[in-house]
Amino acid sequence: MSQPKDLYEILGVSRDASQEEIKKAYRKLARKYHPDVNKEPDAEEKFKEINGAYEVLGNEEKRRQYDRFGTTDGQAGGFDFSSFFDQGDPFGDLFNMFTGGSTYSQANYRTAPRRGEDQYQRMTIEFMEAIEGTTRTIRLDIDEPCDHCHGSGAESKDDVQTCSRCNGRGYVVEVTNSLFGQVQRQTTCPECHGTGQTIKNKCHACNGSGFHHVRKELEIKIPQGIMSGQRIRLAGKGGSGMNGGPNGDLYIEIFVKEHPVFKRDGQDIYIEVPISAIDATLGKSLKVPTVHGDVDLNIPGGTQPGQRFRLKGQGVPYGKASGDQYVDVKVEIPKKVTDAERELYEQIRDHRAKTEEDGPFEKFKKFFSGK
Ligand SMILES: [Zn+2]
Ligand SMILES: [Zn+2]
Repeated sequence: MSQPKDLYEILGVSRDASQEEIKKAYRKLARKYHPDVNKEPDAEEKFKEINGAYEVLGNEEKRRQYDRFGTTDGQAGGFDFSSFFDQGDPFGDLFNMFTGGSTYSQANYRTAPRRGEDQYQRMTIEFMEAIEGTTRTIRLDIDEPCDHCHGSGAESKDDVQTCSRCNGRGYVVEVTNSLFGQVQRQTTCPECHGTGQTIKNKCHACNGSGFHHVRKELEIKIPQGIMSGQRIRLAGKGGSGMNGGPNGDLYIEIFVKEHPVFKRDGQDIYIEVPISAIDATLGKSLKVPTVHGDVDLNIPGGTQPGQRFRLKGQGVPYGKASGDQYVDVKVEIPKKVTDAERELYEQIRDHRAKTEEDGPFEKFKKFFSGK
């Protein structure tokens, strides 16, 4: 918009005009510049301007605000239309502002092709399915645009006609008598339901609905290595488009269940493996489970509790590469020993007392005695 004009000037009324005079002036101008009637190139622009002015001056409260904060302070054209409309959808506001008392643009809006809404579904899969990839079948009820009429609902292009009841406006004006005199009320045209168009011969393929309602079974390929929260997009499988517009998309959000043993962080797998204190002391060759099956892991003698080993490339595959698996060793001390075992443990202790100067605890105590 260029420099805003004075709203009273637009409607050609004085500042002290009554609401009735404003309404009269608006109607006269709206009739003159309605784009269905007036084919001059700037008619539509002018029509919008008139509607914008009436939107404000036709409403007593908005008019008061305009008188206070508009151009009355002598500064030229300081009025901001938008301050009268709720914040939020900027296009909706703009749209309301320009259509004002008429639904001329609204009818166009209603018949314009519109894309359907995107839809979302959640799908839960098993841990191993996410690692290996899988396919799932889902059942969907969708509206597919009719390929004969491409969504118009008409047998041919010539069968789409301007609604004779509302002249394509999409609304009709009802005049009723009330306590306060005659009241004009706009309602959606009952003939065309606001589209401004009627169909002479309905499309034979879809019976005029413009789409085919189908129940489909869709196979969804879930790629190898997918993670919780990732989405799979199915183009054109979302909400139905309007007036021949394309369907929206369907997004499947994946939720991966936890595994009792494997923990996953990105492409890496973590696992805790219990071993005995003797195996940690002497070392042992283990067959460790991975998502690819068992893999040999040599635990060296002297392995400490919590020590971590890496199995390179044994994590989650992605593309041609793979993450790693980390094995955390959990050393378990026996809670009970048999008499025979006790004897053997005591032999080891006696042996160590003879061969070593101090055990770990004695070394620790030395720190406090300062020796
Ligand atoms: Zn109509
Ligand atoms: Zn059709």
